Amino acid sequence: MDISEIQVDGYERVARCRDPRSGLHALIAIHDTTLGPALGGLRMLPYASEDEALFDVLRLAKGMTYKSAVADTGLGGGKSVILGDPIKKSRALFEAMGRFVDAMGGRYITAEDMNIGIADLEIVRTQTRWVSGLKRESGSSGNPSPYTAWGCLQGLRAVLEEVWSAGDFRGKRFLLQGVGAVGGRLAELLKERGAHVIICDINAARVKELQQKHGFEAVPDEGHMSVPCDVYAPCARGATLNDESIPLLRCKAVAGCANNQLREPRHADVLRQKGILYAPDYVINAGGIINVGMEFVPGGYDEAKSMAKIDGIYGALKRVFALSKEHDLNTREAAEQLAEMRLKRGRDENAKRR
Ligand code: NAD
Repeated sequence: MDISEIQVDGYERVARCRDPRSGLHALIAIHDTTLGPALGGLRMLPYASEDEALFDVLRLAKGMTYKSAVADTGLGGGKSVILGDPIKKSRALFEAMGRFVDAMGGRYITAEDMNIGIADLEIVRTQTRWVSGLKRESGSSGNPSPYTAWGCLQGLRAVLEEVWSAGDFRGKRFLLQGVGAVGGRLAELLKERGAHVIICDINAARVKELQQKHGFEAVPDEGHMSVPCDVYAPCARGATLNDESIPLLRCKAVAGCANNQLREPRHADVLRQKGILYAPDYVINAGGIINVGMEFVPGGYDEAKSMAKIDGIYGALKRVFALSKEHDLNTREAAEQLAEMRLKRGRDENAKRR
């Protein structure tokens, strides 16, 4: 196995692994460990080139630093990618990946991401302890989705207070795109609190199942963005907030758990100009990462402590909205400012300890 370094400004460590025996070609990017070890998922994609993979892993690792800083997880930001076709997975490949993760000496902790499942991570775990999000039976934190949904609900309380001056869900109309693991649970939580829930999903069977079980109103996915509602909650995929879609919106707030909802950063401004409050996705969807991060606190994973920390998403969003008003920033910029403030505080504290 050959591990080599790639020098990238602004990143603590970026490493490449080539293992001819297993065929592994992978990259690990450790962006920042000021606040703790860098946690971020492993994805596997048939990238066209190493440059393309490097671009992806660098962007994602930095995003994890900000997400963990705002969520106050006590973790830093990192990410890893395997260059290759997920159809060609093998035991040897993930064993080699485990040795690569282990070579980072605990400064990088891996987790699930695109095209990587728990079964793959169980193999990685045979070579390194620096793996998170495995099954609950193995002492890990288990499936993050219900925690993400719970965290999103806490964030929505802050959104309701900001727009309607009261965190009351009763009678408010929530439109959810995507009712999978996270969106489906969020829809249930909202209904339990007296909200009117409207759902859409490209999976017709899933919509029918939830409609029958909970009596949600359903609308076709096509054209759903112009359905009048109070809060639009994207819970399916990224880049859905863009020049074409934002003019269609008939809501007062956008707040959901999908990753990378803005097609471009400037779309946060477009929403603001339209008078729509945007809850930055990585702030409101941090419940899963907070839960996973609790595996690495002294004493090990504790669900009650994790839930208490996830409830903090409410306060984090309140802070983001306050900063946005105070400094005349859009909410995306305000979230970044909050992350930078926490990183600076962490750097100062680390410097004092030295
Ligand atoms: P999932 O695959 O369980 O559910 C996604 C749902 O969206 C599915 O029901 C799917 O049919 C639907 N969907 C996909 N494309 C669609 C489209 N074009 N229009 C309408 N519906 C569509 O995934 P999930 O775990 O619920 O994650 C949902 C989103 O939340 C993703 O963006 C994910 O990255 C993000 N997220 C998830 C977690 C987590 O803990 N699972 C944490 C943070 C962020």
